[in-house]
Amino acid sequence: MKYISTRGGVDPIGFQDAVMMGLARDGGLLLPETLPTISPATLNSWRNLPYQYLALEVLSLFIDDIPKLDLDGLIERSYAGFSHPQITPVRKVGDLYVMELFHGPTLAFKDVALQLLGNMFEYILERSGSVMNIIGATSGDTGSAAIYGVRGKKGINIFILHPDGRTSPIQALQMTTVVDPNVFNIAVRGTFDDAQAIVKGIFSDLEFKDRFHLGAINSINWARVLAQVVYYVFSYCKLWKTGAESVDFSVPTGNFGDIFAGYVAKQLLPEGCINRLILATNENDILNRFVNQGDYSTSGTVTPTSSPSMDIQIASNFERYLYYLRDENSGQVQADMEAFTSTGRLDLSEQRERVAKDFVARSVSEEETIQTIGDVYAKENYLLDPHTAVGFRAALELRDSKRPVICLSTAHPAKFGEAVKKAIHEDVELPESLTELQGKESRCETMDANAQQIKEYIRKHALS
Ligand SMILES: *Cc1c(COP(=O)(O)O)cnc(C)c1O
Repeated sequence: MKYISTRGGVDPIGFQDAVMMGLARDGGLLLPETLPTISPATLNSWRNLPYQYLALEVLSLFIDDIPKLDLDGLIERSYAGFSHPQITPVRKVGDLYVMELFHGPTLAFKDVALQLLGNMFEYILERSGSVMNIIGATSGDTGSAAIYGVRGKKGINIFILHPDGRTSPIQALQMTTVVDPNVFNIAVRGTFDDAQAIVKGIFSDLEFKDRFHLGAINSINWARVLAQVVYYVFSYCKLWKTGAESVDFSVPTGNFGDIFAGYVAKQLLPEGCINRLILATNENDILNRFVNQGDYSTSGTVTPTSSPSMDIQIASNFERYLYYLRDENSGQVQADMEAFTSTGRLDLSEQRERVAKDFVARSVSEEETIQTIGDVYAKENYLLDPHTAVGFRAALELRDSKRPVICLSTAHPAKFGEAVKKAIHEDVELPESLTELQGKESRCETMDANAQQIKEYIRKHALS
């Protein structure tokens, strides 16, 4: 399987090179040259596989430059730290199904992909005798999942900047209590935007970037999307055993990474297995407007909500879907993205019918989100985190009576305890993995939002 860029400027490369490249060199995103499909007979043979075995089958369709035995080892190690034997269990909540993706070390769905990505980085670097310094800024969640993905890994140092005092206390603890020698937490006196600007500045210094083999761990890495395809197939197989031939998925969406994995799964499985993907946004609704009106336009401002991991203005993975919507015409995609960059707007209204074959969408307000958490808790004694509640609410509004809906649950409710408390008027019980962070040893460097000083610090501690 070779990988190409949505913008056509990268000669086909193997999976390992695609993982190391991250963003395509021509500014586009990497995709498989052709999307694989499986037969009903193959699906039948997958029906009862445990998560890790299924992951090996699915990943093998996309990866031909890592021996199967090695890939098996990488998968085993990536999911050994999950607290549930099924990794991503599915349970019935009222009339809907909820797939819990939060049983990884940081209690958010990003662990599913970042645990695997960390192991893949280590594996590839070891074989090429190379090293990597990962630098990123976080407003809270992605940082801890990235740190847990690479802690203790050989050949990798990670530097994560977070705004001092502006993440939730639990989020800060989740990062700073990781004291492995390859992990460097930097609390920046300033906002998330300050931290982000510093990271961007560092990456734009190409000499520094090459010298220190800088790497990013953001959601545009193909390996992250691929890891997420697995749980769509896994949960489909689970429901299939209960007699469902066809299912819908509801996905709380920010950067379009998770739901794009659903799109890949839909193409992979035999026709009709996945009927529709319900795209749920919070009040930051650019993707909802795209699906319902064909209008992909940024409003320019982000509205803070109780589901902060979906507070985005531009969806960084959208270009991958656009490539298929444009019939794999990379010239057109390039033109589209240039137009979007200069005007902040893309008119895709002529594509609406095609989009509707795969997606329906709804934007869920703050009030509806809180109300949904309260209702589901009262009726079903089940706690949704605010991100999951956005998807759950959209599913309630958009489901049809013909098939079940699986709602992706992207975070443990205790991670967003304040918003949940607003809905249920009780404190949310913390799972043990969070309470035990309290008295733990921690390590963090607090620094001014001074790009030069932070760069100096990284230079001093980077692998080279
Ligand atoms: C990142 C995140 C999302 C959004 O996922 P995308 O792939 O960006 O669409 C939703 N919920 C939680 C809890 C997240 O951390």
